[in-house]
Amino acid sequence: MPIAKDSVVSIHYTLKDDAGEVLDTSVSAEPLTYLHGHGNLVQGLERALEGKSVGDKIEVKVPPGEGYGEYDKQLVQRVARRSLKGISDVRVGTQLHAQTEHGARVVTVTQIQSDMVTIDGNHPLAGKSLNFEVAVTDLRDATAEELTHGHVHGPGGHHH
Ligand code: ZN
Repeated sequence: MPIAKDSVVSIHYTLKDDAGEVLDTSVSAEPLTYLHGHGNLVQGLERALEGKSVGDKIEVKVPPGEGYGEYDKQLVQRVARRSLKGISDVRVGTQLHAQTEHGARVVTVTQIQSDMVTIDGNHPLAGKSLNFEVAVTDLRDATAEELTHGHVHGPGGHHH
């Protein structure tokens, strides 16, 4: 059976940036199991897997617009260090939950200059092409409960 909406799909994947650097991989761990057609993967990868079967291997380059979004300069803000009071350890790479003019979101500290801190609300992979190598390792129909929750239960999934 091919992958379609409501399939529970297990994949091994490796994600590289355009320079060939490995950003993420499942290969030395358990395969990733997800519910297809419910937005659990980035859009471009989910679409590339549509219609594939167990044993298929694909390579796909997902552009930012179908990945983690275009890089949005408006999500970058400079704030006074003192406005982050209560956070003891602010350094480049620290992730914070911040109130921004776009609402609450996770931001990353990208620069610290004397008493000014630059925070970036973009996803770390925003603006980047995502180069996936994927092997489909397992496939089954979702249970009614999984469809209600919109995600997978059992091995490779999560429960709550
Ligand atoms: Zn659930």
